[in-house]
Amino acid sequence: MRHEPERITVGRESVVIEWDDGASTSISGRRLRAACPCAECREHRAATVSPIQLADQSLIVDGSLVGGYALRFTFADGHGDGIYPYGQLRHLGDP
Ligand SMILES: [Zn+2]
Repeated sequence: MRHEPERITVGRESVVIEWDDGASTSISGRRLRAACPCAECREHRAATVSPIQLADQSLIVDGSLVGGYALRFTFADGHGDGIYPYGQLRHLGDP
């Protein structure tokens, strides 16, 4: 069963997604950036073991819907290539 977001609140340091089944997922900018699914970030993660992340990279400046199945987030360093499918976001929630 696929869940759709009912309300999305984009803050600078985190995103809160309330789903149509009543569940809610809170994801920090740091976690969101660390999971960025774009090709550039995936390559970068494969090439380095450094967990260092600059502050700009984990501050969220924009969020938008993509084709009814995903969200795209832009970070303060200008990076905004990652398209996060709902299923991924649902599992990214901070414990
Ligand atoms: Zn990326």
